[in-house]
Amino acid sequence: MKKIVTKILVIGGGPAGYVAAIRLGQLNIDAVIVEKNIVGGVCLNVGCIPSKVLISAGRKVTEVQNGERFGIEGDVSLNLAKLQEFKESVVKKLTTGVRKLIKANGTTLLSGKARFLSRNMVAVDVQDDEEVTIEFEKAIICTGSVPSSIGFLETDGELVIGSKEALSLTTLPKSMVVVGGGVIGLELGQFYASIGCEVTVVEAMDQILPGTEKDLVKVLMRSMKKMGMKLHTSSKVKELIKNETTVTVKFETKKGMEIKEVEKVLVTIGRKPYLLDVGLENIGLDPSSQFIEVNSSMETKISGIYAAGDVTGNPLLAHRASAQAEVAAEHISGRIVEYKPLAIPGVCYTTPEIAVVGLTQQQAMDKGIDVKVGKFMFGAIGRALVSGADSGFIRYLANSETDVIVGVQIVGHEASELISEAIVAVEKGITAGELGKMMHAHPTLGEAAMEAARVIHNEAIHQVPRR
Ligand SMILES: Cc1cc2nc3c(=O)[nH]c(=O)nc-3n(C[C@H](O)[C@H](O)[C@H](O)COP(=O)(O)OP(=O)(O)OC[C@H]3O[C@@H](n4cnc5c(N)ncnc54)[C@H](O)[C@@H]3O)c2cc1C
Repeated sequence: MKKIVTKILVIGGGPAGYVAAIRLGQLNIDAVIVEKNIVGGVCLNVGCIPSKVLISAGRKVTEVQNGERFGIEGDVSLNLAKLQEFKESVVKKLTTGVRKLIKANGTTLLSGKARFLSRNMVAVDVQDDEEVTIEFEKAIICTGSVPSSIGFLETDGELVIGSKEALSLTTLPKSMVVVGGGVIGLELGQFYASIGCEVTVVEAMDQILPGTEKDLVKVLMRSMKKMGMKLHTSSKVKELIKNETTVTVKFETKKGMEIKEVEKVLVTIGRKPYLLDVGLENIGLDPSSQFIEVNSSMETKISGIYAAGDVTGNPLLAHRASAQAEVAAEHISGRIVEYKPLAIPGVCYTTPEIAVVGLTQQQAMDKGIDVKVGKFMFGAIGRALVSGADSGFIRYLANSETDVIVGVQIVGHEASELISEAIVAVEKGITAGELGKMMHAHPTLGEAAMEAARVIHNEAIHQVPRR
């Protein structure tokens, strides 16, 4: 049996694991990363990146279809098989790039499934090869997350599919029921609706995007309904009956039981940290717990064993995974670092997009922070009008005592880009007065941020003042 000895072992090559591997290399620390599938994890292979390829294509189709006012005429259609080829090429480019970066930084990448044998040893099942053992001093567990499933909503990959399969369809289903109106279900559901599929969303909670402020969601709902999507909230799927090429879905709504026969059912009811098959029990961690608990240095209760990314629980986001991994790697190197962000952005890449960071008004109130609110509509922004994407708004919240910006919510075109300025503001404690006086390029959507900050002091230039 082959044996490798290393200082640091990283298990899992997603946005947490591969960033840890690169950062350890940059810090000149001898490290090995083990990945059982393809480096890049869920994000690059079956998550963030492929979903955004589809969404980009769907938006281009919608823009052309709604292009009359720009003088754009004619029919447009989408070749799903061709789009899949492009998606694969983007994924390949990025995953190959990550593999090269790991190597270029001096970290060894091993393909296989790692399982702890003890506090200092893992066994790795290497494909088509003998088992390898790795002896290490410290380890970072980055095994990510997997889709949640409930008995009768189990996916079969054909008629009842999960997000992974929904990212790879080469023929357009005529109809689809999306079970779960969270970020992933809405992003993928809206993509399919944008290219001609009849989409029905069934969400158990009383709103889509549960936990997101209602006024943001309202703008999104309007757009989805305009596209023909059917949204059922406070509704539960009760039964799936599989026919030869279709599924009959029975779901209970506020008005009673509804029955719909569709070509695909997409189940997106959430994801859960992946703690199984890693041998956690052999190092004193509980594989049946919901997630791996860590301190602010990303170290678990077992000294020298760190964890980062989705495996550490909510929110399950790629940028959070990478930020945590970087803290783990730097802490291992001896630096005094902590994972204590004020600003963890959350983005829903629908049309319009929703992006939030920091506190909501309710959260501020719960913390006893009195806030002043500056809301600015994109309809008053030149760049939004010229792009034909003038629905939605941006809202800045500032501590009414200190004027420090504590939270930002955006619904509208390019909200995912506009949130970056808000992240800096919240994380660095910039005041509304400071942001409102910073020159923003014209004409840009960013001017809405400047104006929203000025609204807090009733000094917006392009909004009627409060009297
Ligand atoms: C459809 C979809 C869209 C998404 N869109 C976004 C988005 O737009 N923005 C965003 O921030 N997040 C998004 N996410 C979430 C994002 O993908 C995850 O938060 C992110 O991938 C977490 O990174 P991670 O490294 O913690 O875990 P993962 O990406 O899950 O990676 C874990 C890796 O560990 C490997 N592994 C597991 N066990 C072992 C073992 N025993 N040995 C070796 N390897 C092992 C797995 O094969 C996997 O590659 C999306 C998710 C989905 C499903």
